[in-house]
Amino acid sequence: MTTLVDMLIPEYVKKFTCIGGACEDTCCSGWTVNIDEDTYKKYKKVKHPEFKASLQQNVIKNNANPSKSFAAKMKLEQSKCSFLSSEGWCSIQLKLGEDYLCTTCSVYPRRTNKVNGVMEQSLSVSCPEAARLVMLNQEGILFEQVQEKAVIKEITSTVNTRSETVSNWKQFFDEYRYVTIAILQNRNHTLEERLLILGLLFNELEECVAANKLADIPDILGNYLKCAEDGTLHGAFDHVAKRLDIQLRICRELVVVRLNQEISSARYLECSRDMMSGLGLQQQGADQQAEEKYNQAYEAYYEPFMREHGYMLENYLVNYVFKNCMPLEGATPFESYTRMIMHYSLIKVHLVGMAAHYEGLSTDAVIKLVQSISKTFEHNTEYFEKVMQLVKESGFMTLPYMSILIKN
Ligand code: SF4
Repeated sequence: MTTLVDMLIPEYVKKFTCIGGACEDTCCSGWTVNIDEDTYKKYKKVKHPEFKASLQQNVIKNNANPSKSFAAKMKLEQSKCSFLSSEGWCSIQLKLGEDYLCTTCSVYPRRTNKVNGVMEQSLSVSCPEAARLVMLNQEGILFEQVQEKAVIKEITSTVNTRSETVSNWKQFFDEYRYVTIAILQNRNHTLEERLLILGLLFNELEECVAANKLADIPDILGNYLKCAEDGTLHGAFDHVAKRLDIQLRICRELVVVRLNQEISSARYLECSRDMMSGLGLQQQGADQQAEEKYNQAYEAYYEPFMREHGYMLENYLVNYVFKNCMPLEGATPFESYTRMIMHYSLIKVHLVGMAAHYEGLSTDAVIKLVQSISKTFEHNTEYFEKVMQLVKESGFMTLPYMSILIKN
């Protein structure tokens, strides 16, 4: 039943429609399509002469651990859903109608969170069309409160930080997220400076939580917001050291982690190969050369491109904070900040390498990388968790190291 739902959304959400056959990386590719119980029951009742047999053949019942959301799954052919037509459209939707799409397919790439009783919807940049809507808006992301006629089929996560039982640092969630987004969107600073200001803020929050001084948190947040606005922190980060060896070590480890993981996104593998070739990372022990290539590509291509198109990564980060309810996804405030910086840093390292390979960057290349790397992380959470494990084990989860990753 369709009902009126109060929702908080970034305004781009209303503009999204799937472009189907024109999509350069359909969501049916390389994805496990789980079928929920209600849809599975519907499929069993289908009488359509062409589809009855096809559904019987290509829908595989989950006998091992069936649940309401995972009663069966689609059979994949060459990593693609069996119902994907050669023109790139979903034949179930075309022939049987939208009502026959399983929850996974009908909600993607939307993500709905219920945050302190309010529905929030955003889009995952793992869909190329969503990535364009999120990242190509030069004015930055605006949010609005709307009343929508909607059927909420799936709530990705439910967050309740206002309950009386919540007495830990998470009770200030609304304030963290507001201040984090406000600082990320403050264009009086470069994007690097904004991330460094957030580093100081999250480091201080971490110390506050460790010392159990939770009552100080609202003042700390207010002070950083004010400092970012009045320019007090301009030039405060000029001393951050250049340590390309750390950036490149992470790059190399990333390649090793990638080689040990099953990664199905052809688009990400292309980006990864371009990055490695651009930085000369295929050859063992060529670190000096890789540093030179990184430096050259950073100065000649990445930095000038980002001076004009910095809004793309700003929008990516704002969407990340909103969609993931940052900082609640981390065990502590600083771990959450580290997760965000690692996403940013991995994107940057790939883009610098790709810029070296192609001797330039374009908005299409940035969309391709961000979309495909997000798809890889969303499909294979183990990959990003391995990266985080590496960061923690190497002792990099500190403010100085995060600053180095941001600055270089
Ligand atoms: S990835 Fe996005 S645009 Fe492409 S087919 Fe899926 S929903 Fe449509």
